[in-house]
Amino acid sequence: MPLGLMIKYGIFAVFWCYLACCRVSLLKSIEYSLVLSKRKTIAIIVKPDQTVEVRAPKRVSKKEVESFLQLKQSWVLAKLQEFSLRPETHKSIYREGESHYFLGEAHRIVDVKGENPSSDIEQPIIALRSIRGVAPEQIEKKFDRWYRKEALALFTDRHDYWREQMAHLDLPGSDVTIRKMKRRWGSCTTKGKITFNTALAKYPLSCIDAVVVHELCHLLEFSHNKRFYQFMSHVYPDWKTCDKQLQTLSWQY
Ligand SMILES: [Zn+2]
Repeated sequence: MPLGLMIKYGIFAVFWCYLACCRVSLLKSIEYSLVLSKRKTIAIIVKPDQTVEVRAPKRVSKKEVESFLQLKQSWVLAKLQEFSLRPETHKSIYREGESHYFLGEAHRIVDVKGENPSSDIEQPIIALRSIRGVAPEQIEKKFDRWYRKEALALFTDRHDYWREQMAHLDLPGSDVTIRKMKRRWGSCTTKGKITFNTALAKYPLSCIDAVVVHELCHLLEFSHNKRFYQFMSHVYPDWKTCDKQLQTLSWQY
């Protein structure tokens, strides 16, 4: 799945390779930092902390950078405005009673000691054994084990379900793994190895399904071309709405 779906930054283009960096003020109210490198194009990045970074080739003059910024000024201001209105990113706390998202719902961490977990309030729970009085780092380890197990079961289930729905398309074989990823929700190799970002399990089922179908469509078409999106629209007509929701919610989970 493309980076676009998990963009937390507004990016015109992304290339890395820092060679020089300096801080510059410009355009009346917009302050930005300039990073010069071997890249070929100019890119403006508006970050969630409402700072602006311009990445440019070394040969480009400051005047050219400023003309480009001038040209994109309304986009930069709109992006800054958008970030200023967004809620704070959810910060994970690993403690009994704290909530963590799974399948789009806040689940409460509950301590259990061998017996079947129960909950006196109507909220789904994450039952972890013997966490009372334990350091948050230890609880986080237990939580991670729980989460990875549940996430793998969930993705495998959705993968199998959607393969069935797509049986008429005669998909090549595929299998599922999970991994923490920084810039993608999922990936698919030419050999059919589909990897999902572990964090995706936090999101509502409709978002997860959009990613699952996306990766399965790569078994039929490897590139993000017209044919690929025709498969997407055929199998999961609502994919655009779900992608957008995934982008928006990534700020809260
Ligand atoms: Zn893709």
